[in-house]
Amino acid sequence: MHKLTDKTIEVKGIGPKKSSLFKKLDIYILEDALHYYPREYEKYKAVLPISQIRSSGDVSISASFMGRPRTRYAKGLSITSIVAVDNTGKVECTWFNQPFRASIYKQDVLYYIRGKIIKRNNKLQIQNPIIEEYCAQEHTRDKLVPVYKLTRGLTQTDLQRLINKALECPELDKNSYSDLLIKKSTGFVSKKDAYTNIHYPASEDQLEYARQRLIFSEFFNLQVSAQYIKNTINSRTSDVKINTDKANIESFFNSLPYELTPSQDKVIKNIFNDFNSGKVMNRMIQGDVGSGKTLVAAAALYTVAFSGYQSTMMAPTELLAKQHMKTLSSLLKDFRIHIELLTGSMNAAEKSAIKERLANGKIDIMIGTHALIQDDVIFKSLGLVISDEQQRFGVRERAVLRSKGGAPHFMAMSATPIPRTLAHILYGDLDLSVIKDMPPGRRPIKTYCVSSKLRERVYRFVKNRVKQGEQAYIVCQLIEESSTIDAISAEDLYSELKQGYLMGIEIRLLHGRLETNEKDLIMEEFLQGKTKALVATSIIEVGVDAENATIIVIENAERFGLAQLHQLRGRVGRGVKQSYCILISDTDDDLAKDRLQAMVSLANGFEIAEKDLELRGPGQVYGSRQHGLPEFRMANPIKDSKLFMLASKNAERVIKNLDKIEFRKIAEECLSKHQGTDIISD
Ligand code: ADP
Ligand code: MG
Repeated sequence: MHKLTDKTIEVKGIGPKKSSLFKKLDIYILEDALHYYPREYEKYKAVLPISQIRSSGDVSISASFMGRPRTRYAKGLSITSIVAVDNTGKVECTWFNQPFRASIYKQDVLYYIRGKIIKRNNKLQIQNPIIEEYCAQEHTRDKLVPVYKLTRGLTQTDLQRLINKALECPELDKNSYSDLLIKKSTGFVSKKDAYTNIHYPASEDQLEYARQRLIFSEFFNLQVSAQYIKNTINSRTSDVKINTDKANIESFFNSLPYELTPSQDKVIKNIFNDFNSGKVMNRMIQGDVGSGKTLVAAAALYTVAFSGYQSTMMAPTELLAKQHMKTLSSLLKDFRIHIELLTGSMNAAEKSAIKERLANGKIDIMIGTHALIQDDVIFKSLGLVISDEQQRFGVRERAVLRSKGGAPHFMAMSATPIPRTLAHILYGDLDLSVIKDMPPGRRPIKTYCVSSKLRERVYRFVKNRVKQGEQAYIVCQLIEESSTIDAISAEDLYSELKQGYLMGIEIRLLHGRLETNEKDLIMEEFLQGKTKALVATSIIEVGVDAENATIIVIENAERFGLAQLHQLRGRVGRGVKQSYCILISDTDDDLAKDRLQAMVSLANGFEIAEKDLELRGPGQVYGSRQHGLPEFRMANPIKDSKLFMLASKNAERVIKNLDKIEFRKIAEECLSKHQGTDIISD
C-alpha cells in the first residue's frame, strides 16, 4: 500500500523515464497525481439499437462489421467505409484518410462504436467513429471518461494508473479536522468520494458534487488561513501615534497642484481612519494604472512625517524608485521633510552614509528598492511601510521590511487589477481600498491589433507621430535572439528599425541586462525628450511616467499576459494628447486571439482582469507562485463566486465557535494544505 507522499518512481512499473515525464506535469509524488484533475471528460453514451438512431448527434452502438470495406479517393482525400450491423439494422461507418481501417477489424466480433451521426444521400453514417471491443459491463450505461493533459511520451493510461494508486492510499479515508468541519457545515460528500468522482465520475451529478466539494475546500482553507492571520498577526495594537488633525495636514492638501479625485479623497480618509484606530493598519490600495496612487502615498507619508515618525516606500525596480524620489520630492518640496533614496547600485560609501542618517533619524522618508530589506538598514522610529506595485514582491520581502519597526502601519499599493471577489481571497488578510476613478481629462487609448504584414505601416505611423514631436515605446519579449522562442528580440528589432523604418530618428535600446548607469541615462534622455523612440523589454512595465509618450507598439503581443499588456499600455495616455497602443501578432491560437481582442475592446483594468479570469482561470492569470499569491487548483473565484460566498460564510461561522487553540490548530492545517506557507511567514 502506498502513501500519498510516495514518489512516483516508488510505484511498481514506473521507472526513471516515466517518472521524469511525470515531473514535467508537476507530478512528483502520488498526492500531486490526486490533484492532477482531468482537463475534460468525454461522454460515452450508452449503446443504442441501430434502429433507434436519429439523424444527428453523437451515438454509441454495439455492432459487428459486415461485408467488404471500401476505400475511395476524391480530391486528395481517402474515404474508407465499412457497414456495421446489429439485429435491428445497419449503418455505414466512414473514416477520412485512415485507409488502414479497412484491414484491422475482424468479422463476428462485437465492437463498441462511437461517433458523430450524419445523414448523407438519405442514408445514415457514423463519421470517424472510435472503435473498441464491446464489453457489456463498460458500455451499457452513460459514462464520463477523464481526459488528462499529457506530455509527449505519456498516455492517458499511464496517468490513470498513477491516479488509481493515489486513490487507494489509506490517508484518503482519514478526515482531518478541517475536512470534518467542511463536511459538518455543508453536508458535502466525503473527501474520498470527491477525489474518486473527479477522476472517475459515477454520473454528471456526482461529478458536480465532487467539483463543489473540492472548490469549497480550497476557498474554505484559504479563508480560514487569512482570517487567522488577520486576527492574530494583523490585529496588533499600534503605539505609533499619527496626528491627522486638520491643522496638521491642511497645508499639504492646499499645496497640491490639482484637486483630489473622489476616490483619492475616500482612500486617504480610509488610511486616516486606520491611523486613528489604535490598531496597526494593513491596507491594500488597488488602483488601475494611472489612477494616482502616488499622491495617496504622498498624503500618508506627509502625515506620518509631520507626526514625527519615519516611513519607507519600497518599489520593485530602480527606475521606479528614482521616479518616486522625484515625484515625492516635488510634491513635498514646500515642507521640511527630508527624503532620500537607497538602491543597490549605489557605492558602498554612499550607502553607509545614508544608513547612518537613517539610523540617526535624520531621514524622514526612505525610498528604495530591495536594498531596503538588508539587515543593516535600521530605522530610528519607523511608523509606516509602503510597498508599491505589491504584485512584484514576495510576501517575505514585505514581511522583512515591516519587521524593521515595532509595529509600523502597512500599506500595499497595486495596479494589478484584481476583481474584488478575488482580492478578498488573495488578500483576505488586508483591508481593501479601491481607487475607482481616473484623474480628469484622460483620453481613452486607441488600441489596435494587427498582423506583422502591416509592420511597415505601423512604423511609418510611429515615424509620423515622432515628427509631430511625440515619443514611442516599442516592446519586445526577448532581449536577444533565442533558439527556442520564436519572437523578435529587442536587439534585432533595434538594429533593424535604426537602419530601416525609423532611420534618422533618435532611437535607443533599453533592457534589464544593461548597467544601471546606462539604464538611467537612457531613461533620463527619453524623459527629457532627447530620445524619440525606445526599443525595450517589459522592463518599462511598471510605473514609468513619460507624459509625451503617445505610442506603444508591442511585438509578438500574444506572448504577454493580459495584465502585463494592460500595464504596458498604461505607459502611454498619461498626458492630454491622443495615445495609441498597437499590438502586433500573427497568432492563430483562438485563446490568444480572444485575449488580444479583449485588449482592443476593453480599457478598464478590472474588466480586463475579469475577462482574463474567464478565459484562463486564476492559476494561469496570476501565475501565483512567483507572485506570492495563493493558487487554486480547481476553483475560479469569478465563475464559482456563489461557492466562494458560501465558503466565506461557513468559515466565519466555524471560526466563531472555536476557541483560540482550536482555531490555531485548524488554521495551521488549512495553511499547510493551501501550500500557503508563504502566507504565514508574513
Ligand atoms: P499610478 O496609480 O499608476 O501610480 P500615478 O500616481 O503615477 O499613477 O499618477 C498618474 C498621473 O496622474 C501622474 O502624472 C499624476 O501627476 C497625475 N494625477 C494624480 N492625481 C491626480 C489628480 N487628482 N488630478 C490630476 N492629475 C492627477
Ligand atoms: Mg505607480
